Amino acid sequence: MKRAIFPGSFDPLTLGHYDIIKRGVTLFDEVIVAIGVNADKKYMFSLKERKKFIEDAFVNEPKIKVVTYKGLTVDFCKKIDVEFILRGLRNPADFEFEKAIAHTNRDLAPIETVFLLTSADTSYIASSIVRDVIRNKGDYTKLVPKSVKIK
Ligand code: ADP
Repeated sequence: MKRAIFPGSFDPLTLGHYDIIKRGVTLFDEVIVAIGVNADKKYMFSLKERKKFIEDAFVNEPKIKVVTYKGLTVDFCKKIDVEFILRGLRNPADFEFEKAIAHTNRDLAPIETVFLLTSADTSYIASSIVRDVIRNKGDYTKLVPKSVKIK
């Protein structure tokens, strides 16, 4: 069985993430959306909220799981016996950043990173922009799945 993890902060889940996850399940038998927990990072949404947004978005998708993890992504892959890391690419800046991480991960463990190019209509969406729109009381609903609800 081919399984991949899709790691990230998902603060919050966006239509860009949603697109990559949906397309990921056409390539893998299981896609595990893995929310990385970084104690030094400040998040807009709690871990519980971020997890629920993703679970609710994929409630009818048995091939998609949501988990949280601490530490190195490759160590987590080894722990749950996953051979692939799925990542999305939006632009040259993403490519340079992802290339360095993927090479480092390959030095650390025999795990392949598989990249999907963003869909044209979601390529401009980033969690940081969504947070900015939310902070400034703008209409964020066109940028995120319906499951992302702000109290
Ligand atoms: P990180 O904190 O690791 O950057 P994110 O939650 O921002 O985590 O993103 C997780 C993954 O989703 C990354 O591979 C990122 O490139 C990808 N991604 C984010 N936004 C988009 C988008 N609009 N289209 C495609 N991929 C995206």
